[in-house]
Amino acid sequence: MNDQGDTIFSKIIRKEIPADIVYEDDLALAFRDISPQAPVHILVIPKQPIPMLADATDTDQALLGHLLLTAKAVAAQEGLTNGYRVVINTGEDGGQTVFHLHLHILGGRSLQWPPG
Ligand code: 5GP
Repeated sequence: MNDQGDTIFSKIIRKEIPADIVYEDDLALAFRDISPQAPVHILVIPKQPIPMLADATDTDQALLGHLLLTAKAVAAQEGLTNGYRVVINTGEDGGQTVFHLHLHILGGRSLQWPPG
């Protein structure tokens, strides 16, 4: 892993810094956001450090599908039976701040649209 791919999320994957992990498998990790924007706010990340969605390629197809299905499973595990939102902020205009691809799961309250 090079320095460019090594973000705070890589440290969470390696258990070098603590996180409230709610799900883990060989390909993905899910943990609670440190600054929750909803009663349930969980990040789903690939263990492979793809910086952002714009960097994903055809070889990542199965992994991207796995991340979405992981988000679905985690939302169910969290009891979000009334719905939830899955968000991928991408690049500067997308509001991305950590450059390791991640899906936000937001739920537990009624969310507004459009976002800011
Ligand atoms: P982005 O703005 O890149 O889409 O989302 C990054 C998210 O990571 C933010 O919601 C932020 O609160 C969260 N975050 C940043 N650093 C940490 C951390 O060290 N631990 C956890 N659990 N979440 C973090």
